[in-house]
Amino acid sequence: MDSSRILVVATRNRKKGIELSELLEGLPFEVRTLDFYPDCPEVIEDGETFEANSEKKAREVSSHTGEWVVADDSGLEVDVLGGEPGVYSARYGGLDDDHSRNQYLLDKLAGRPPEERSARFVCCATLFGDGKVIYQVRATCEGRILHTPRGAFGFGYDPIFQPDGFDCSMAELPPSEKHRISHRGKALREIRNFFERHK
Ligand code: IMP
Repeated sequence: MDSSRILVVATRNRKKGIELSELLEGLPFEVRTLDFYPDCPEVIEDGETFEANSEKKAREVSSHTGEWVVADDSGLEVDVLGGEPGVYSARYGGLDDDHSRNQYLLDKLAGRPPEERSARFVCCATLFGDGKVIYQVRATCEGRILHTPRGAFGFGYDPIFQPDGFDCSMAELPPSEKHRISHRGKALREIRNFFERHK
């Protein structure tokens, strides 16, 4: 594998960019975030699936930068809400900050007992290069929605999500532990395995 290659992480979400960069550490690439490409146009995420949005982000960023790209489209699915917020996780309720979106979701689930609060994080990661999708993978992390936010690590819905097998929220887990169990950690390990198989 050509170690002078560049791999661009296609997100403007700073905390997600940090997670993606950490998860790609050690690969023989120079990993760049979009901070390196301030003129890269915003990608309109108008797909109906995580797969469609992930591919669109990867394709458009690769076309702008001319480099290989890893893009993730991710979100939270709550079973009793029919899979909401799903692909609309980043703008649920038309709200533009994590705290308000968490409260909006907690209000929707008010009065629901733990057995009606099952949910999962989903991540679809796309590796795109040379004008085509090279590899795409979906991974999930199962859990349930807590009654109140807890913890300060992570981002997004982490404070109100309790992963199965844990007694705490995702936001109470340090980054290394989140990476071990998270949807994004699992998907990015598949991408790493792909590189291992094709070096
Ligand atoms: P997008 O993939 O940039 O469209 O946005 C994904 C949205 O889903 C984020 O803005 C968060 O609200 C939520 N999300 C995705 N991954 C995570 C995670 O690991 N923890 C908490 N929230 C997440």
